[in-house]
Amino acid sequence: MSQPSIPPERSDFIREIVAADLRAGRREAVVTRFPPEPNGYLHIGHAKSICLNFGVADDFGGRCHLRFDDTNPVREEQEYIDAIQADVRWLGFDWGEHLYFASDYFEQMHAWATDLIRTGNAYVDDLSADEIRAYRGTLTEPGRPSPWRDRTVEENLDLFERMRAGEFPNGARVLRARIDMASGNINLRDPVLYRIVHATHPRTGDAWCVYPTYDFAHGQSDAIEGVTHSICTLEFEAHRPLYDWLLDHLPVPSRPRQVEFARLSLTHTVLSKRVLLRLVNEGRVRGWDDPRMPTIAALRRRGFPAEGIRDFATMIGVAKADSVIEIGMLEHAVRAVLNRTAPRRFAVLDPLKVVIEDFPEGLVEEMDVANNPEDPSAGSRRVPFGRELWIERDDFMEEPPPKFFRLAPGREVRLRSAYFVTCREVVKDAAGTVVELRCTYDPATRGGDAPDGRRPKATLHWVSADHAVPAEVRLYDHLFSSPHPGTDGRDLFADLNPASETVLRNAVVEPSLATVPIGETVQFERLGYFTPDPDSRPGAIVFDRTLTLKDTWAKLQAQRPAGKS
Ligand code: ATP
Ligand code: MG
Repeated sequence: MSQPSIPPERSDFIREIVAADLRAGRREAVVTRFPPEPNGYLHIGHAKSICLNFGVADDFGGRCHLRFDDTNPVREEQEYIDAIQADVRWLGFDWGEHLYFASDYFEQMHAWATDLIRTGNAYVDDLSADEIRAYRGTLTEPGRPSPWRDRTVEENLDLFERMRAGEFPNGARVLRARIDMASGNINLRDPVLYRIVHATHPRTGDAWCVYPTYDFAHGQSDAIEGVTHSICTLEFEAHRPLYDWLLDHLPVPSRPRQVEFARLSLTHTVLSKRVLLRLVNEGRVRGWDDPRMPTIAALRRRGFPAEGIRDFATMIGVAKADSVIEIGMLEHAVRAVLNRTAPRRFAVLDPLKVVIEDFPEGLVEEMDVANNPEDPSAGSRRVPFGRELWIERDDFMEEPPPKFFRLAPGREVRLRSAYFVTCREVVKDAAGTVVELRCTYDPATRGGDAPDGRRPKATLHWVSADHAVPAEVRLYDHLFSSPHPGTDGRDLFADLNPASETVLRNAVVEPSLATVPIGETVQFERLGYFTPDPDSRPGAIVFDRTLTLKDTWAKLQAQRPAGKS
C-alpha cells in the first residue's frame, strides 16, 4: 500500500506513530475505531476523539469503525445508541458498513474467557466487590491472593458455566485473570474479567447474565475487528499492560496497538456523562440537548456548525499531556465559520417605538439590504420600511454621556440601509418610562448615504412595526460561572451560572426570519449569532443565541506576548 504523507501542520505524535508503523512494515493498513458506551449523549470531548479517529483513518487511506462498547446493560439505552449515530454523522463522519457492537462478540468473548480458565490464567472468585478492593492493596502495598485463587480448572469451569446459567445473584462471584497480586501496576492484580448482572440488555435482551468488563471487552473487540491503532485517552495508559497481557494469552486474530492521548477539558464546562446525566435528571437544564450543555446535540441545537467543531479539533491538536482549553477557543472557531456563512438579519430584542412624523402614512418602502457585507456573493434581500419602527431600547439615551454616540434628543443617526433620522421628541408614560420617540427623516439619504457626505456617528438596526414578527429569544451564557467548576472543594452544582439562560419574550424580527429553517444560523446585526430553536411553533418562533459577536479569545491572543499561546 502506498503511504500518503501528512502535511506537517496536520501531523501529531499519534500520526507519527501510525506513519512509523507503516514505514517499518509493522502494519499494512490503518484501522481505527470510535468506541462510545451508549450510556449518555456524546459531548465535545468525544468530538475530539471522533475527529482524531476518523481523521487518522482518512489521512492514511484506512477506515474507522463505530463500535458501541455496550457491556453494561444497567446504564445503556437504545435512545443513546440512536443519538450517538446521529451525532457522529452530523459531525461529518461516515463509518460506512463498519458499525459494530461489543455485544455481538459476547459468545466469542465468553469462549476466550473459558480458554483463560483452561490455561490456568483465570479463576472464579467468591469475594465480594468490597473484599476484592481490600485484598487488592495500594500503590505502596502489594495485594493479597484471594482464598479462591487456587481453585482447580474443573471447579472454575463448572462455576463459570453456572454463572452464565444464572444460578447466582448479582455480585456473588466474578471471573478474574490470574496475573500477579504483587504487581506494581494495580491493573495487573488479578483484574475482574466477567461479572454477574441480571439486567435486560438493549440488544441481547435476557440472553446473558454475565457481562465482560471494559478491560476484557475492549482489546478483544479491537482484535476481532482488525483494529490496528486503538486510540484512547490517557487514563487507560495504566491499563495498557493488561490490554497487551490479554492479547498475549488469547488466540486473537490480530494484534492491535493501544495509543493514548490527552482528553479534552474545557473551562466553564464539565465533560462527564455522569454529571451531564445528573443535570438532566435534576432538571437543571432543558434536557441532553439544552443549548447550554456541552453535548454535540446541544451544540447543534444552539447553531454551532459542524465545521466549526471540526476546526476546533484541528486547532487544539493532540497532545500527550492533559491541559484545560479555554472555551473561548471553541467559540472563536465557531465564529470564524459563522462570520463567513451566516446571513445578516435585523432583530430587535428590547423594542422601543420610533415614529417618523414626516414619513407618509401607509407608505411601505422595500429597502435593499446586504446579506453579508463580507461576502458580496451572498446577495441582498428586501426589508420593508415604514413610518413606525422598532429600534433597540438601549440605542437611545435621553441624557447621553460623552461617549454615547447613538440616538438622543436632537441627534441624527443612520438606520442601516434606510435613512438618517433625527430624534425630535421623547414620549413617556405616567411612570416616566420612555415609550416612543418622535423623529423626522432626510429623504435624500435613502439607502444610508447622504449626498452632502455627512456621516452620523452611529448606525442602528431596525424592524418595521407593521411587518415585525414577534419572537421569543433565549440568550445563553456559560453553564458554569467558574472557569474550573467544582474545584477547590466547592460543590460542582454551586458553580452553576444562575444567568446561563435569559428569556426575552418581546423581541421582534424582520419578516424573512419567520421562515428560517431549524439548523440555519443567522447573524442578528450588532447583536450576535442566533438560530431558530426546535421549540418554535407556527406563529410562536423561538430563537437561541448561538454566540455574541465579541471574540474574547482572539482579543486575548492579540494581547499575549509573541511566542505564547
Ligand atoms: P465520560 O468520561 O464523559 O463519561 P467516557 O470516557 O466514559 O466519557 P466513552 O463512551 O467510553 O465515554 O468514550 C468513548 C471514547 O471517547 C473513548 O475512547 C474515550 O476515551 C473518548 N473520550 C471521552 N471523553 C473524552 C474527552 N473529554 N476528550 C477526548 N476523548 C474523550
Ligand atoms: Mg468510558
